[in-house]
Amino acid sequence: MQIPLVDLYAQYQQIKSEIDSAIEDVIRNSAFIRGEHVQHFEKKFSELLGANHCVSCGNGTDALYIVMKMMGIGHGDEVITTAHSWIATSETITQTGAKVVFVDTERDAFTIDTDQIESKITPRTKAIIPVHLYGHPADMGTIMEVASRYGLKVIEDCAQAHLAEYRNIKVGNIGDAATFSFYPGKNLGAYGDAGAIVTNDPTLAEKCRKFANHGSLIKHDHQIEGINSRLDGLQAAILNVKLPYLEKWTEQRIKIAKLYDNLLGDNDGIELPITKKGYKHAFHLYVIKTEKRDELRKYLADNGIGTAIQYPVALPLLPAYKYLGHTSDQFKVAHDHQNRILSLPMYPELDKGKVEYIAEQIMRFFQAHEVYQ
Ligand SMILES: *Cc1c(COP(=O)(O)O)cnc(C)c1O
Repeated sequence: MQIPLVDLYAQYQQIKSEIDSAIEDVIRNSAFIRGEHVQHFEKKFSELLGANHCVSCGNGTDALYIVMKMMGIGHGDEVITTAHSWIATSETITQTGAKVVFVDTERDAFTIDTDQIESKITPRTKAIIPVHLYGHPADMGTIMEVASRYGLKVIEDCAQAHLAEYRNIKVGNIGDAATFSFYPGKNLGAYGDAGAIVTNDPTLAEKCRKFANHGSLIKHDHQIEGINSRLDGLQAAILNVKLPYLEKWTEQRIKIAKLYDNLLGDNDGIELPITKKGYKHAFHLYVIKTEKRDELRKYLADNGIGTAIQYPVALPLLPAYKYLGHTSDQFKVAHDHQNRILSLPMYPELDKGKVEYIAEQIMRFFQAHEVYQ
């Protein structure tokens, strides 16, 4: 049996006629840039999250950059973020001119360790960017409390956490602003790059909209210099088809995670992902931890099962951040995780039989190891 980490074609097959006619409609009307599909998506996505404003843009990386710039973050400022994420979270901080300040992660949930945030705050700190990594929300209560005490902005990086919840509030609706990615493999994925900023602050929303569109809200009326970062019509039309399915797909991810939990629960060789009480995990990824990560990964590959390591090196330890002079001792948990994490196949269309096959192969691998040890 061949089981990929993610199967985007399986999803397309289920909604093929809707997608095909949406694409045809965009082409027929030449609605390639801006237009009604884009507006409709912004309206529906903000409604789904319960937020007042959604400003679409080219991708999730631009969303981070745009919102930080429009919050006035730049040279001389510091922004705190997690040691464990995709590099987009931290590289955009540097792009604004600010300095990246990394904080280690929690042992259980892979998200920023809120006990360590305060010790990293200086008079230059302007914002905190928690990442709801793998779909599990960061401890937003503590983050908002610390931020308000020090007058800091909070930007939620929701790229992996569409419809995840913290104490019954959807993520993206808790901080001052949030950023989303609709990269094809994300929980809500376009057929190319796409992203959005979500906020309840009308002034910030308008600034972001202006900056993302060459500094103008009205054609040729350039109030400031901006950038060109747009959600295109084709991607918006595709996202509009997919959006009504997102809740169902999220529930399917949670179901698959439960099935993995049940089938792998007795295995002493692995640690399963947790969901903290009062949190809703969106399971962008199902990530286990094991000392035998590399051998297990190879064994699964030999048996047709795709896995991934998200991510092989913690951000502060990447060559890109060598200039900060960090050591693995400063990020003990993130460093420990980078060597033990393994993402198992996870997508809404993954059926029970496949999950059972994957679990069976994992159990078999560990049984073999016990024998030969
Ligand atoms: C995917 C991702 C981004 C960037 O989104 P793109 O749309 O690929 O630019 C940012 N942060 C995290 C945590 C991500 O997973």
